[in-house]
Amino acid sequence: MSSWQPGPNSRALFEQAQKVIPGGVNSPVRAFRAVGGEPYFVARAEGPYVWDVDDNRYIDYIGSWGPMILGHAEPGTIAAVQAAAAGSTSFGAPAAGEVRLAELVCELVPSIDVVRLVNSGTEATMSAVRLARAATARPKIIKFEGCYHGHGDAFLIKAGSGAATFGQPDSPGVTEGVARDTLNARYNDLDSVRSLLEANQGAIAAIIVEPVAGNMGCVPPVEGFLEGLRQLCDQHGALLIFDEVMTGFRVARGGAQERYGVRPDLTTMGKVLGGGLPVGAYGGGAALMNQISPAGGVYQAGTLSGNPLAVAAGLATLGRLRAEPELYQLLEARGARLEAGLRAAAQEAKLPYTLHRVGSMFSLFLVPGPVRCFDDLSGIDKAQFTTLFQGLLSRGVSIAPSAFEAGFISTTHSEEIIDQTIAAYRSLLVELGAA
Ligand code: PMP
Repeated sequence: MSSWQPGPNSRALFEQAQKVIPGGVNSPVRAFRAVGGEPYFVARAEGPYVWDVDDNRYIDYIGSWGPMILGHAEPGTIAAVQAAAAGSTSFGAPAAGEVRLAELVCELVPSIDVVRLVNSGTEATMSAVRLARAATARPKIIKFEGCYHGHGDAFLIKAGSGAATFGQPDSPGVTEGVARDTLNARYNDLDSVRSLLEANQGAIAAIIVEPVAGNMGCVPPVEGFLEGLRQLCDQHGALLIFDEVMTGFRVARGGAQERYGVRPDLTTMGKVLGGGLPVGAYGGGAALMNQISPAGGVYQAGTLSGNPLAVAAGLATLGRLRAEPELYQLLEARGARLEAGLRAAAQEAKLPYTLHRVGSMFSLFLVPGPVRCFDDLSGIDKAQFTTLFQGLLSRGVSIAPSAFEAGFISTTHSEEIIDQTIAAYRSLLVELGAA
């Protein structure tokens, strides 16, 4: 089976980069370490395609790790950012666009009446947990093994995403004190949550969950899981935080809370919300959110929060998603087409597999399943994933360089592109099945 190598321009850049950037990258998974080595460097991207600096073109299922739901270089977003840039790149003072974006978020996301903009998903989750602790006057949080909520200290205990990819779910540099206040439950296992709540009566400020897990690959909630979390929180006086950084405006226009009909107390967002620029947000009911400074005493601030370029990109993206709700039907249809093709290919190859898809988020795990929590993925064959990953790149298809990440479809992934993707997977899976 052919193994993939980056071109000479990418290799030269990576060599230079490693001298001045830790590991040569500004976010760990990008380094391709889990999949044999060296990354391609991107020159540009448009619609469903990314081109590397050696002019190779790939069909892109990374989508900047989620934001690019309308495809790369979406004309409306580009025009909005260019227009905003002409009026200066930052003010550090309130501006009209922020109000409009906040109004849009409140309109689209069922549980949000008041929202604060920040610069990343990490900031959103850190701030939401601070608020939950302040509001409940309790210290501890419950999270789920294999979920990722950004790189805040409290979340780097049994974390997903890059932390899982590199087998470093617990990071050095996180103090014991912080680690003590983070309790880990099993995803899709309400009993594991119940026993933590009972063992820590009156101490749990919040349960934070990815309502569709996307950072151990795509693992949907089993029926009753999110409802059960809601009930347990109510019973124990804890707040329920949905981390919708990945699922927000992705699995439905109003996020997972709309799709599954469960209302959290606080919601964190990012990715799609910023249309590819750095934006995060957290929101909820007014009584809770108005405890944030300067309305209330819980401090949280940001030099670049509500940045005019980021807000313009967010307004353009959310504006289109609001005006054209049929885009979610299109994403569903494209996702279903990809799912059917990948299932047929895996069956033809006689490989054990589990395929999860929620709208335009998907993962193909080459394990028999069921996959309901991180433990269920312990059988993943990383060498086999590397072969698949590299083989797909050789065939012009780029998926996330880790078996523990979801794939993302954009509205620009046409039926033809989906079919090309299926053909690339099919030939590889058949080879893998025969190996
Ligand atoms: N929460 C979730 C669910 C995420 O997927 C991510 C990023 N992948 C984050 C939080 C952190 O967001 P950011 O990388 O913007 O800090």
